[in-house]
Amino acid sequence: MKPCHCDRSHKQRRIVLTGGPGAGKTAVLELVRQTFCKHVVLLPESAGILFSGGFPRAADPLIRQAGQRAIYFVQRELEAIAEAQNAALVLCDRGTVDGGAYWPGPGDLWSAVGTSLASELARYEVVIHLRTPPAHNGYNHDNPLRIESAKEAAAIDARIEALWAGHPRRTIVPATTNFLAKAQAAVDCLRNELPACCRESA
Ligand SMILES: [Zn+2]
Ligand SMILES: [Zn+2]
Repeated sequence: MKPCHCDRSHKQRRIVLTGGPGAGKTAVLELVRQTFCKHVVLLPESAGILFSGGFPRAADPLIRQAGQRAIYFVQRELEAIAEAQNAALVLCDRGTVDGGAYWPGPGDLWSAVGTSLASELARYEVVIHLRTPPAHNGYNHDNPLRIESAKEAAAIDARIEALWAGHPRRTIVPATTNFLAKAQAAVDCLRNELPACCRESA
């Protein structure tokens, strides 16, 4: 994080960085970390926290439902924690809406956790979607928490895209081979959302 002399209190705005598996979120987050001041707060991915912490993971629908409910509530609490900080932007590594793409049924995630898709979409100011590259074009299994095949990854990416389709402010970053251009598009989008008081550092 770059130094920042801003001491104003900010009205916090939540931004989601999403995309299917292998879309390059982790590397984009690293660039964001290097580009902006401490008033751009990055939240960790709730699924990563749970699964790397040993939360059970299996194909059984009951276990998958439990996982998605847990991810939803952890995400909500991560966002609540961010409210304790004087952030101008809170960048979420995926948002509550993404869980819908992994819900095995029956019904949907929203009724299972007592909410609606519309109210979850309304939690976020802007959505940045990094598209998952096709199988021959960069998808890999370097991340040990990643269990999907390339075909599944593309299907998940399409479902995530469809779930966020009702959001009024989306930036969709195509699965270009030029990774730097991809990362730059996300950084530019965030810079546009940053209040003027914090922009001199970015
Ligand atoms: Zn500021
Ligand atoms: Zn700042």
